Amino acid sequence: MKDTGKGVRAVLFDVDSTFYSYPLMALILIWKYWPFIPFNAVLMLVRRRLRKMGLQGDFRSKQAEMFSRYLHIPKRWGERYLDYVVYRHWNQNFAHVPPRKGLREFLDFLVENGIAIGIISDYPPEAKVRQLGLWDYPWELMIDCEREGALKPDTHAFEKAIDRLQLPPEKVMYVGDKYRCDVRAPASIGMKTAWLTWRRKSGKGPEPDIYFRNFRDLMIQFKETFGSKNS
Ligand SMILES: [Mg+2]
Repeated sequence: MKDTGKGVRAVLFDVDSTFYSYPLMALILIWKYWPFIPFNAVLMLVRRRLRKMGLQGDFRSKQAEMFSRYLHIPKRWGERYLDYVVYRHWNQNFAHVPPRKGLREFLDFLVENGIAIGIISDYPPEAKVRQLGLWDYPWELMIDCEREGALKPDTHAFEKAIDRLQLPPEKVMYVGDKYRCDVRAPASIGMKTAWLTWRRKSGKGPEPDIYFRNFRDLMIQFKETFGSKNS
């Protein structure tokens, strides 16, 4: 057992690939949107570049500008495509995607123990959370990194969350599946982290406080590491 000495008072979550299984989601998207696959590849490329660039102010506008430049199309076409296909449609395909096993039990446990819950996501989280059937949980905050002007691993959204929770960072744990964005970034500002992975060693930076393979596993380790009752 780790001697943290202090309880975790809030747990914040990544959404994509953390709340649901990505391969299943990808299959649904490929099935319904296969003609758009090349455009999606361009979008991923653009977002990878934007991640490296950090804070962009009007993120959506910058993303549309870069996306359109790659495709040699007017910016307004790119904007319209992203708005219609990515934000209105992709985000509306979660009704048939089940949340990961044990997630609800873990959320119930946190709520019952008076631990605040929240979300920090690179895509707008509201529609997904609603469709995954998780809307009724008492979310303390839901932060859309795009609206904040920078995708993870920029720490802007994490800092904003800490500020809004009015807690010291070591009392807040972030749960996610991508090492660079969900472990290294929040750990760099002193937050606790739990990494959803099959690995047992990060090998390239700070270790997460918890490695877990499923949410049942996370609940057991969370109790062991931080205690079920928090001081
Ligand atoms: Mg993720």
